Amino acid sequence: MTRAYNFSAGPAALPEPVLRQAADEMLDWHGSGMSVMEMSHRGKEFIAIHAEAESLLRKLLAVPANYKVLFLQGGAIGQNAFVPMNLLRGKVSADFVDTGEWSKKTIKEAQKYGNAHVVASGKAGGYTAIPPRDSWQLDPNAAYVHICSNETIGGLEYHWTPEVGAVPLVADMSSNFLSKPVDVSKYGLIYGGAQKNIGPAGLTIVIVRDDLIGQALPITPSAFDYRQQADADSMLNTPPTYAIYVAGLVFKWLDAQGGLEAIAAHNRAKAALLYDYLDSTAFYSSPVAKADRSLMNVPFKLKDEALDAAFLKGAEERRMLQLKGHRSVGGMRASIYNAMPVEGVRALVAYMKEFEAQHG
Ligand SMILES: *Cc1c(COP(=O)(O)O)cnc(C)c1O
Repeated sequence: MTRAYNFSAGPAALPEPVLRQAADEMLDWHGSGMSVMEMSHRGKEFIAIHAEAESLLRKLLAVPANYKVLFLQGGAIGQNAFVPMNLLRGKVSADFVDTGEWSKKTIKEAQKYGNAHVVASGKAGGYTAIPPRDSWQLDPNAAYVHICSNETIGGLEYHWTPEVGAVPLVADMSSNFLSKPVDVSKYGLIYGGAQKNIGPAGLTIVIVRDDLIGQALPITPSAFDYRQQADADSMLNTPPTYAIYVAGLVFKWLDAQGGLEAIAAHNRAKAALLYDYLDSTAFYSSPVAKADRSLMNVPFKLKDEALDAAFLKGAEERRMLQLKGHRSVGGMRASIYNAMPVEGVRALVAYMKEFEAQHG
């Protein structure tokens, strides 16, 4: 068996030790005589798996006691609707920072439930930089301020936490969740789909300050009413049990790596290998402003796009997969989440150099 270097943006690579453990436990979890997939979510085994996953996540992120951790379904796109349904709290409007493809989707969805006020946009600059905080025209009466902490397609990441006063800050962290320490107390709500940096698709994590819940719009589906789900320990309906189990294994793996400080240092070193090379050559280019470059998703272009197909073919032959950029931006994109080993990035840079030597 040879595992490829998988640069997919999501669903994405998982740590190999996690996959091995899941494989070992597939038929018989800890002597229970069954797979986690086959267990009742109300049984003591699964309740223990669920509780351990939550407590590990709380430990990794140092989640304060007055925040609920919810394990839901419906993805981040689902949350684009459920956040306004739950957090408008009688207000008519929320503020949004438009940094690219994912924030655009969030804004469009929120408009169904209230007024989505765009306080700043990177559109004029082709979404290559995050609008500086002092350019944001915030509304003090907004229900919340929404940001996308890492634009997975454009490759932009906040390396700072915006100060927004008393209005709760909400972040879609789908693609940089658990890639670095985060001061949860600076946010009213954090959400993300698991399939980028946490585990299998199907699990959506919401971390929400408890004073913000309990005022959902009457049309809110019960399964996505944060108050009802918090009261039911995220088991108002059947949770995505297997995805929660694997996420728990990933949390344990992260803890064993030394936690989020250690993984962040690792992520910075990995991304630097790639960006330093991109900056050293005119054969490839990175479109994103240096200060806002994502450590998770690295889009880049070849000088001549006629070479794109040959580049991808050579990469595949070397077992480096899923490097094609998103269809909306073209070029290449290397997603280098927590589970991508530094060897994978080294192999990519070595191949890029080789390709440049041949075609440059
Ligand atoms: C992938 C992604 C989404 C979409 O998540 P789904 O789980 O498909 O709903 C939303 N926001 C960001 C930032 C993403 O990276």
